[in-house]
Amino acid sequence: MNSAGRALSTFLIAVMVVGVGGFVWAAFARGLTWNDVTQFALPRNGVIVAEQRYVVPEPTGDGSRLLPQVIVAEGGTYEMWYPGVDGDPVRYDPCEPVEWVYNPGSEPEGGAQIVADAVQRVSDATGLLFVYEGETEEPLSDSRDAIQERYGVDRYAPVVIGWSDSGALAALEGTVVGVGGSSVVPAAKGDGEYLAAGSVVIDVDDAQDLLDGFDGDAVLRAVIMHELAHVVGLAHVDDEAELMSPANRWKTEWGPGDRTALALAGSGACQS
Ligand SMILES: [Zn+2]
Repeated sequence: MNSAGRALSTFLIAVMVVGVGGFVWAAFARGLTWNDVTQFALPRNGVIVAEQRYVVPEPTGDGSRLLPQVIVAEGGTYEMWYPGVDGDPVRYDPCEPVEWVYNPGSEPEGGAQIVADAVQRVSDATGLLFVYEGETEEPLSDSRDAIQERYGVDRYAPVVIGWSDSGALAALEGTVVGVGGSSVVPAAKGDGEYLAAGSVVIDVDDAQDLLDGFDGDAVLRAVIMHELAHVVGLAHVDDEAELMSPANRWKTEWGPGDRTALALAGSGACQS
C-alpha cells in the first residue's frame, strides 16, 4: 500500500472510532478535517442555539491563566448563582479572555466610560481578563443566543453591555435598573460546564436619574458592577453591606462577600 492509501485507511478507522454521539453531526456541521480526527481523545460536544446545531468552540489559550489569581481574605456574605453538579460553581474559564462588546445606543452622557470603569473593577476583583472588542448593534434583550452569526459561529458570543428601557424590555419595568447574567454552556469536550455569552442591559431612564443624583457616576457604575457580577456568576444576598444586595441604595464599592465571591468566580478550572 502506498502512503496515500495508508493515510486513507487510518482516516476511515478513526472516523469509525470517534463517530459516536455528538460528533456525527459535528462532522456535518463543520466539515471533518484530519486534525479533528487525529487529535480527538474525546468527542466534541455540541449545543443547539436557536434551533441550530453547533460544535462547542474549542478553547484558544494554552492552559495558563491570563491574569494572576486574586487571593482575598474570605469574609462577608455571598452566594454563587450557578452551582455546578459537583458542588463547584460554574464559572468563566480564567485561561480564556472574556471578550466584550458595547452597544452605545441611547447611552447617557459619559455612559461608555462608566461601563469601561465597571468592567475594569470586575476584572481586578476576579482576575479574569476582559478584552474589549468594540461596538455592536446587537439588539439588547434578557434572553440571548449564546452563538450568533454576527460574531462568528466558531465561538461563543462575547459579553454584551448596553442600554434599553422599560418600553423595549419588560424585564426593566418598575424599579429594575438593570439585568445581567450568562449562559451555562458545555465544555468543548468532557462533562465540564462554563459560563459564556453574558449580557448586561441597563435602563437608560433610571441611569439618567442616578446620574442626576448625588455621586451619580459612582452609583451608576455600582449598578453596572452589580450586573457584571451576575454575569461572572454571583447571586443576590440579603446583606446590605454587599453590592450584591438587591436592596442596595448607597454602596458604590464591593463589600467583603462580593470580593470573596468575585475571587472565587475567577478561580475556576481551565479548559485547555
Ligand atoms: Zn441583581
